[in-house]
Amino acid sequence: MANWTTRLIHAGAHAPAGFASLVTPVFRGSTTVFPSAADAIDHWNHDEAPYSYGLYGTPTALELAARIAELESGYRTFLTPGGQSAIALIDFALLSAGDHALIPESIYGPNRDFATEVLARFGVEVEFYPPMLGAAVAQRFRANTRLIWCESPGSVTMEVQDVPGIVSVAHAAGILVVLDNTYAAGVLFDALAHGVDVTMQALTKYVGGHSDLLLGSVTVGNHELYLRIGATWQRLGSAVSPDDCALALRGLQTMAVRLAAIEKSALQVARWLAARPEVEIVLHPALASCPGHQFWARDFTGSAGVFSLVLADSYKVADVIAFIDRLQLFPVGYSWGGVTSLAVPWIGGPGRSNWGHGDRLVRLSIGLEDPHDLIEDLKSAFESQRPTPTGI
Ligand SMILES: *Cc1c(COP(=O)(O)O)cnc(C)c1O
Repeated sequence: MANWTTRLIHAGAHAPAGFASLVTPVFRGSTTVFPSAADAIDHWNHDEAPYSYGLYGTPTALELAARIAELESGYRTFLTPGGQSAIALIDFALLSAGDHALIPESIYGPNRDFATEVLARFGVEVEFYPPMLGAAVAQRFRANTRLIWCESPGSVTMEVQDVPGIVSVAHAAGILVVLDNTYAAGVLFDALAHGVDVTMQALTKYVGGHSDLLLGSVTVGNHELYLRIGATWQRLGSAVSPDDCALALRGLQTMAVRLAAIEKSALQVARWLAARPEVEIVLHPALASCPGHQFWARDFTGSAGVFSLVLADSYKVADVIAFIDRLQLFPVGYSWGGVTSLAVPWIGGPGRSNWGHGDRLVRLSIGLEDPHDLIEDLKSAFESQRPTPTGI
């Protein structure tokens, strides 16, 4: 028998086989062992080749990817360490120097920043278009336009886009349409059925659902895009943790009941806010006051828990901050989609379009608390505060 130090590495003892858990096991591993020396290859594409390296996913990650693809009725899904890296993967895979890309002004801020700070450095021309342009975005097409980003509803300002209208003119011109489908958790808007070529979402939000992981996904509608994105995905080395994937798989099991409860509470809170004198407008896709509400009603099967409100004209920046800080049940923080309601001020700055809402935008994410308690909390924050008199 080998020395015990060797047996620490090459053990002869093993647990019995045959435990059939309901849960996908957490497979950790950088190395995966080949049956023989002749079988050793390095290939990311698990459709064509067996597992070759943990970087391209263990069975835990591939299970999650397959389930996201199935939920989005996609061809295949790639996982990335976060939503932002999903955005970067799409841009790196589908754009080259000399190309022109169109991005809505309402896009998630770091997506905009990636375009202006990184893509621009690699010779890609980026142009921002008003999110409500719809099919009229065709007026911005150039001979070198390759890609149109959509995000519907847009981050913070919540404009719901006419995605099918954009798809029809884009495809007629041979341009790909890419959608950030994080709001819809990949399920409330059936993007690929509406003609979108590639979707991404931050699984960090509703799929994870508990503010304890960061993951992203990129889902493609066909084999050609699978090969194009896969080649870049391999070279970027965007590995994901199997532990995070296992948490996301767990999140998926309860996502339907969480989304249903969150939708109901968020609507209750949004409607209550819309009737308050301290609120100028509520930007919630299911409310008629939201730009593009008609597209939401036409294309979506439900609404989520993130929305924004614009406080009345009398609110100065300090009043907005004071209002948020008075809230007891809404911690201040980025990200959303978890069980805890959150509030965050959206003070405009360079490169950040608040769409004429000034510095009075507040984004809320509704969690799983009792909506009556959330409303009571908002009410007391409004009523215990006297806005700074005009002119100060
Ligand atoms: C949060 C978010 C992202 C980025 O996701 P991370 O996992 O935080 O990197 C991208 N798009 C939208 C719309 C988001 O809300």
